[in-house]
Amino acid sequence: MIPATIIREAQADGVRLALSPSGTIKATGDGAAVNRWLAVISERKAEIIDALKVSPGDTATASRWWLIHYPDRDPLEVACCPEATHADILERHPDAVAAEPFTPTTRQASAPLTAEDETAIRAWLALIEETDPATIAEVIGQCQRDADARDYFTGRAAAELAKPAPFPDDRRTCDQCANLIARRCQAAKRGEIAASRNYEPIRDLRRRCEGYAPRPEDTDRRPGRARWPELI
Ligand code: SF4
Repeated sequence: MIPATIIREAQADGVRLALSPSGTIKATGDGAAVNRWLAVISERKAEIIDALKVSPGDTATASRWWLIHYPDRDPLEVACCPEATHADILERHPDAVAAEPFTPTTRQASAPLTAEDETAIRAWLALIEETDPATIAEVIGQCQRDADARDYFTGRAAAELAKPAPFPDDRRTCDQCANLIARRCQAAKRGEIAASRNYEPIRDLRRRCEGYAPRPEDTDRRPGRARWPELI
């Protein structure tokens, strides 16, 4: 068992492990339960002390990657930007029983970071008010090498950056135009648009046409000339 697992399972068994003021392990809880854990605590003492040093009161230890343990489910790996302390992590995950920093194994990126992804990541870092050039360079460098880091940061950017306004598609098809009768454009027949008199337009092609006349179901009652005056 790794130290965080020992801390977590002991807690689940009713034994709370903490550091005493002198830096040794203090085990509190039901006496019988404490006795059950004494052997393993003794055997892994140094490692457990190291793990306990990363405690809620330890604000100096910050990490980008944290492994969070829960009493009732599998551990969760999380990435943090900016780096988070143990206190930050436990505040964000109040149902966690332990958390430890870890260094993720690198899954090598198979392709270069695209300019588009880099722009998005930089924009997201700006969004979270990360302005430290060294941190930004570190994140971009990591995303260039590490596929998981790239997935994480591009995912955050995609989820949190404001989306561009959708293309205002005000175009209409000839099928939606009251001037289309029996495949023929009546506006062309009357010489109102620049087309032959027996013009048979592509009926399902979206367009902006000065001859457009709204059918009854079109809530915008303006004809093409009023909608798109720039065409005239
Ligand atoms: S007026 Fe324009 S939109 Fe209407 S049927 Fe003719 S070509 Fe199509």
